[in-house]
Amino acid sequence: MHKIDIDLVEMTMDVMKYAIDRISATKREIGKPKKESELRALVGETITEKGVGGEYAFNLWKQHLIKANVPADHPRNLAFVPAAPTRAAVMFDLVTSASSIHGAYWMEGAGGIFCENEAMKWIVSLTGLPEGAFGVFTSGGTAANLSAIVTAREYWRSLNDKNKVEKGLIITSIGAHSSIKAMAKVVDVDVLLVNSEERLETKNLQKTIDNLTEHQRQRLFAVVATGGTTNAGIIDDLDGIATICEKEKLWYHVDAAYGGGALAADSVRHLFNGIEKADSITIDPHKWMFSPYDCGAIIYKDMELAKKAHSQEGSYLDIFKDEGAHGFNPTDYQIQLTRRVRGLPLWFSLATHGTNRYKEAVERGIELANIAGKMIEENPNVELVRAPSLSCVLFRRKGWKPEDYTHWTYENHKKGFALVTPTKWKKGDAFETVSRFCFINPDTTEKDIEMILDSMV
Ligand SMILES: *Cc1c(COP(=O)(O)O)cnc(C)c1O
Repeated sequence: MHKIDIDLVEMTMDVMKYAIDRISATKREIGKPKKESELRALVGETITEKGVGGEYAFNLWKQHLIKANVPADHPRNLAFVPAAPTRAAVMFDLVTSASSIHGAYWMEGAGGIFCENEAMKWIVSLTGLPEGAFGVFTSGGTAANLSAIVTAREYWRSLNDKNKVEKGLIITSIGAHSSIKAMAKVVDVDVLLVNSEERLETKNLQKTIDNLTEHQRQRLFAVVATGGTTNAGIIDDLDGIATICEKEKLWYHVDAAYGGGALAADSVRHLFNGIEKADSITIDPHKWMFSPYDCGAIIYKDMELAKKAHSQEGSYLDIFKDEGAHGFNPTDYQIQLTRRVRGLPLWFSLATHGTNRYKEAVERGIELANIAGKMIEENPNVELVRAPSLSCVLFRRKGWKPEDYTHWTYENHKKGFALVTPTKWKKGDAFETVSRFCFINPDTTEKDIEMILDSMV
């Protein structure tokens, strides 16, 4: 199975050609979703005792399976948070796989981890965190948020024996990403939500803290602010929240999984003032830093606290901690042990293009959101729900009911034209169904936006 023969060489050429074609293509197709049963009917059984053969399986992939996917980097994929990995990064993702590097410990992955750390230095420098702050790449924002909550909770428990038997409590707003609530479940801590999807301000936060019962106040150990809400691109009052956390002695986590890329953009950097006072920050390079999936990052002000929470012990692991194996061990700072060096594609892309290009590409996303905002204001069929924020635009089609948005989404998807999905926006106590653009891809054009708006008939 592991031998080198002529079949393998031919297969490698085919696969490489496919990858080269995909990387150099300027046109992408939005695949049509198919039911599981439809896909099964097309490809049949593929996992058999004898195997169906690489050539056959690869043809199934090219003819049927790839066509049932929506590439995240299609310029008219403006749903959720899309992606736009650079060609250099995608290319180096292949190199990363081919190099078989175990990225948990320096002893095995020094060269790869060195490169990851070079990229991480740049990301940390964008945050303005003090000397000593650093981070590691994770599988995504969810894993980064989980790693941060665990670190915060362990730190809180280390402060006072009474906390060891208490269930922790964190405060965030309803604008926070779903992963905060999901990961709080994993850690078994309660979440108190400030009931506004608009910018989380100090007044609201302080009031929430002041209204806690004495027991709740004892259990409260962290506040999670959002640096660019996923739904609307809203940045909480990061500086004001920092002051409250300092006064109340609470861990301060900023979830900038989506918005973190905008730290590189001079036009909006001031909106993040105060992020440099955080105890931990989540940023997803696979969102707005043009990395391929999957690549998140968790950054800590004090790396030692993360190490206390996450470092794994085992007789088989002792050698990694030996002086002779000296170096930075990414596994010590997040939940994963074995990991690919997933920051490597970002390193290669940054090294290739330089950080100025990153700045320009992020600025383009913000510019596209503003252009879309203007086009919406000038189009009599649609109107803005709120002003564009970062690269998110919420807008409504006048007179449309929720099912009209859903139908429109499916129609555009089925035609292979665009992927733009509905969302909800909280107005008072009610939720209104609206549409939303999120711009990441600098290849999206004004014409793309115009065509999408024109399809809302
Ligand atoms: C996307 C997102 C997450 C989750 O990140 P994944 O990489 O999908 O795990 C968390 N927080 C925010 C604000 C996000 O936008």
